[in-house]
Amino acid sequence: MATREIITGAHVFTMEGEGVGYLADTAVVIEDDRIAAVGPEAELLARHPDHARIDGRGCALIPGLIDAHMHTPLAVLRGVAQDVAHWMQRALAPYTRHLDRAASLAGTRLNILEALRSGTTTFGDYTRPYPGWAETFVDAGVRAVLTPTINALPPGGMAGWRVGDLYPLDDGIGRRAIERAVAFCRDWDGAADGRISAMLGPQAADMVTREQLIEIRRIAEREDWLIHMHVAQGDREMEQLQQRYGVRTPAFLDDIGLLDERLLAVHLTEATEAEAEQMALTGTRMVLCSGSIGIIDGIVPPAHAFRRAGGPVALGSDQASGNNCSNLFNEMKLTALFNKIRHRDPTVMPAWEVLRMATLEGARALGLDDRVGRIHPGLQADLVLVDLAEPNLTPVLGDPVRNIVPNLVYAATGREVRQVWVAGRTVVAEGRVLTLDGESVVADAQAQALAVSRSVAADPDHRQMVLLEPMDSGRL
Ligand SMILES: [Zn+2]
Repeated sequence: MATREIITGAHVFTMEGEGVGYLADTAVVIEDDRIAAVGPEAELLARHPDHARIDGRGCALIPGLIDAHMHTPLAVLRGVAQDVAHWMQRALAPYTRHLDRAASLAGTRLNILEALRSGTTTFGDYTRPYPGWAETFVDAGVRAVLTPTINALPPGGMAGWRVGDLYPLDDGIGRRAIERAVAFCRDWDGAADGRISAMLGPQAADMVTREQLIEIRRIAEREDWLIHMHVAQGDREMEQLQQRYGVRTPAFLDDIGLLDERLLAVHLTEATEAEAEQMALTGTRMVLCSGSIGIIDGIVPPAHAFRRAGGPVALGSDQASGNNCSNLFNEMKLTALFNKIRHRDPTVMPAWEVLRMATLEGARALGLDDRVGRIHPGLQADLVLVDLAEPNLTPVLGDPVRNIVPNLVYAATGREVRQVWVAGRTVVAEGRVLTLDGESVVADAQAQALAVSRSVAADPDHRQMVLLEPMDSGRL
């Protein structure tokens, strides 16, 4: 049924202009999948007397939040790989090898439920595709940018890899992964009335061959797709690149022509500020995963330098096995705090800037800013209504200082989200996700995670997991 709604009474943050675009006494009109009008409440109410009225008094209305980098199947592995060195090889890989289709699907549903409940409307998911992956986002009624993983690692991935060794790359495996990814992108880019888009995703510069990266760049150019890739994501990647090519990742990517506005570079964990600035100047876009990289690596990536050089930086929650949650309110707060601490400067990444990173700037980084990221007539109606009448968001003040944006970033948890629209359709109401059966999603995720854990326990390789020692000594 066609949507005809008018939201009144809310504190509206449009993200127009250079700040947060605050408007009071303003109504937002939704018609079908779009924002039809934003303007004076009395005038718009008179003009649209038959539209269903949504009472936003005591609430903030913000654009839908954009999580630009996730690995949703890993939500079933929440909390199994924290506080360790060599996180991927020594903690996560023994689990991911046993993640079958049913567990992956359960993880994706769980992650959508969790993130949508806390205001995420655009999901930048990156994973090895399994049947039903894209359909799950379509059915949940959310917006998604889907990137199927391309790598050339032999079966078993890096489970048996020894730190310091070059791992083998298999040309055939890489080429078949590229073919599958191209077929996926052709099928899904622009699907579900444009709610789904797709990108090409070489996992990292150390996980495909140089020739494959050049080929992926050529295809992306021809098809007008973006490339979504982990870049300088750890000392392991830097060592592999040094051994293979004698240079660091940013120089390597520059050399083969990958640094430009077609690249969405995730993490930059090991990049220097100078490398980040140089990358931003090429037009490259960045995703910053503050919670995940903090927990996995104990590092704050050089996103501030990247932004200072003019590059757009989106936020990402990465995955629940390394970050433990997919919640943009958490990412906004951690991003502001970590960057202030890194630079020993409380003026770095103020609340209003990280709110823009989670909305408008995230949309720019994903190439979606002609559709989402602002509350603006003609754009898609992806909106979040946050109830400010919660103890942790009280008081609400407007004069002489408006305190709403700092409280959304530093005090909100995401549980205060009351209603969420994606493409004009209400997908969360009264804090409940309408498009997924929450109880069965949680029960299924628990059952699938237990099944994966049983397989891991039965696999002798699990004995190399570094977390067995803290288990034995009573620290977990
Ligand atoms: Zn990632």
